[in-house]
Amino acid sequence: MRIVDKKISELKVAIIGGGIGGAAAAVALRNEGIHAEVYEQAPVLAEVGAGIGLRSPTVQYFKDWGIYEQVAKKSCQSDYMEILAGNGEVKIKENWPALTDNPKERWARLIHRADLLDTFLSQIPSDSIHLNHRCKSISHHENYVEVHFENGHSIEADLVIGADGIRSLIRSKLISEDKPVYSGFHAYRTIVNKENAFNMASDANILQIYVDGQVQVYLMPLQDRKQVSVDVTAPSSDESWRPKVAKEEILNHLKCFDPKIQRIVENLNIEDFTCRPLYDIKPLERWSFGCVTLLGDAAHAMLHNVGQGANQAIQDGGALAVALRESNTVTEALQKYETRRKPITTKYQQLSRIFPSEEAETAFPEKEHFEKILN
Ligand SMILES: Cc1cc2nc3c(=O)[nH]c(=O)nc-3n(C[C@H](O)[C@H](O)[C@H](O)COP(=O)(O)OP(=O)(O)OC[C@H]3O[C@@H](n4cnc5c(N)ncnc54)[C@H](O)[C@@H]3O)c2cc1C
Repeated sequence: MRIVDKKISELKVAIIGGGIGGAAAAVALRNEGIHAEVYEQAPVLAEVGAGIGLRSPTVQYFKDWGIYEQVAKKSCQSDYMEILAGNGEVKIKENWPALTDNPKERWARLIHRADLLDTFLSQIPSDSIHLNHRCKSISHHENYVEVHFENGHSIEADLVIGADGIRSLIRSKLISEDKPVYSGFHAYRTIVNKENAFNMASDANILQIYVDGQVQVYLMPLQDRKQVSVDVTAPSSDESWRPKVAKEEILNHLKCFDPKIQRIVENLNIEDFTCRPLYDIKPLERWSFGCVTLLGDAAHAMLHNVGQGANQAIQDGGALAVALRESNTVTEALQKYETRRKPITTKYQQLSRIFPSEEAETAFPEKEHFEKILN
């Protein structure tokens, strides 16, 4: 499809998946005057309870899209991250790295995932979001793509963006049959009020990672909500997508941790936790096929250890919108998008498989690589 034949504002774009990546892409495209419809399988758009550390290149896009003030109101700035031994001994305290060419941007903004998704959704007209639309098949024609949904509805689009997560149907139908790879770890996540977390991490507004052997505990303060996001990552041989876990199993992993961390878990019910296996995918050779491309976890699912999955999904949307603005054809835009984004996300995928460990010498394994490129 040539954009020169069709004004960019006339392109019909369909985004499959209304998670953080799909919703961010819709906002980015609207900012370029491109209309996009979002098709989501779920009956409501909602995010699980957990925090995200928004990094400076991501926040730069929010400024470009005119939503920075809204995000700033729901998030708080953190200047440091700490890596600690399980017993609380601080091993590393480090400024967040500046991942833009502005060396002053050594911070992250900490936000609840639901607050971030709501901010994106507030920018998208409700009649452009189609819930209960589970994509079941996709057919590629010379100049357009047809998408079929389980509810019987079908659409045609000039560009389809597969933002349908780690188990992407769009990826498996058109791009790669590689399956997600189990890491051998589960993540148990919950949100607690900061007094129920004994003010851990909150007072200094620091993201803390406690590491003991193969077990990690992440404490992320969410100051604006007076809450703390708690994530226990621990080995498990259970690869099922919805594992059944008992609270005692989580507590067993925490025997060598600060007693306050044990008490946070003791005081909760297992129903208060979201228990998920951690999967990633191998870097793909390509993300696009004709007028179809991938974005976010569908393109480059990575382990959560480097805190970059959502950041990279958002930056994909921003980069894709810019590439469309700069190009004469959809094919040219998709080439630019992949060329700019794939080396970055591939590096993060690699780093997320080796970090963190008790031997880590930095809280930010990406720093050396990306700061070197920028300076
Ligand atoms: C414990 C944990 C902590 C994390 N912490 C961080 C962090 O601090 N920082 C960070 O940057 N990232 C973090 N991440 C990673 C981040 O959450 C993900 O990378 C990000 O949410 C991916 O967004 P996405 O939109 O690509 O995919 P998803 O959020 O998976 O969204 C995909 C959407 O597509 C829909 N869908 C799927 N199939 C279909 C279909 N066939 N038809 C229609 N719709 C469909 C789904 O229902 C879903 O709404 C963390 C992840 C975990 C597990």
